Amino acid sequence: MSYRFAFRPYQRRFRQPLQTSHGSWEMREGIILRLGDQAGREGWGEIAPLPWFGSETLEQARDFCHQLGEEVTEEEIMTIPEALPACQFAFESALENLQQFSQKCNTSYSLHSSCWDSKNLSYSCLLPTGEKALQTWQAAWENRERTFKWKIGTRPIQEELQVFDQLMQRLPTTAKLRLDANGGLSFEEAQEWLRVADEAGNVEFIEQPLSSQAFEAMLELNAKYSTPLALDESVATLNQLERCYQKGWRRIFVIKAAIAGSPMRLRQFCRECAIDTVFSSALETSIGRQAALKLAAEISSSNRALGFGVNHWFEENQDNWLEKLWN
Ligand code: MG
Repeated sequence: MSYRFAFRPYQRRFRQPLQTSHGSWEMREGIILRLGDQAGREGWGEIAPLPWFGSETLEQARDFCHQLGEEVTEEEIMTIPEALPACQFAFESALENLQQFSQKCNTSYSLHSSCWDSKNLSYSCLLPTGEKALQTWQAAWENRERTFKWKIGTRPIQEELQVFDQLMQRLPTTAKLRLDANGGLSFEEAQEWLRVADEAGNVEFIEQPLSSQAFEAMLELNAKYSTPLALDESVATLNQLERCYQKGWRRIFVIKAAIAGSPMRLRQFCRECAIDTVFSSALETSIGRQAALKLAAEISSSNRALGFGVNHWFEENQDNWLEKLWN
């Protein structure tokens, strides 16, 4: 079976740069792709790489799309190399999108605009880094979001602990907070954060306190404190996820579906191993977002908010950017 194939690179600027311990990120760049078949069905997919997380680069993804030409077979899609996990996700989800054309949402074109976002999924709201978080959470709270995420490890720890303290005083006691260090803490700093989190009581988890190389140290911290740790950078792709599971990780796994690789294999692994997951955005557009949310709704741990409370980070109106890009 072969499909017509077309793609368009895109760029979307954030309302304000996102500061993490990987640095400052100003613009999301990726590729939107479309598959079509003889019957007139269409499927959409998005390649949203995060090379500093271990996915392919945008250039590698673009080269891969160029060499395919104007047609792609199902076999080519199912054998995309492991080194291109964002491409695996995009092509497979476009194929699923095409196969579901005219079932759930009439057309695949409407599938990416609203279908999964309207399903009462609960999201964790990504707050701005530093003190700006103190002014931002209220709007999300009024919007019924109860889980927040705040980046740490970007400033001296004493400064961040002070802001954390103020945040804890202001957040309602039923709110939950996730702290994401993006691997930017030292072992001592991670211990300090865990101690403070255990005391606070409403920190849901601390995400990737140490770099991926420090896996054993994170296992050790897990055993010592009651606030759980979540792996994110350590488990960017499905292969890494499987490896960490085999090495004994039984706490939380953050899954950025957009860069994890094949959705089919991911589904299979999550079902077989019944791991504790938090599905999370790679700040993709609504096309990748709908595909990731669909997967999350199928396989994520139902008691945890999804890490998709990020739409407020983007400037433009979500409704017609795709028409503009494609026409
Ligand atoms: Mg993270």
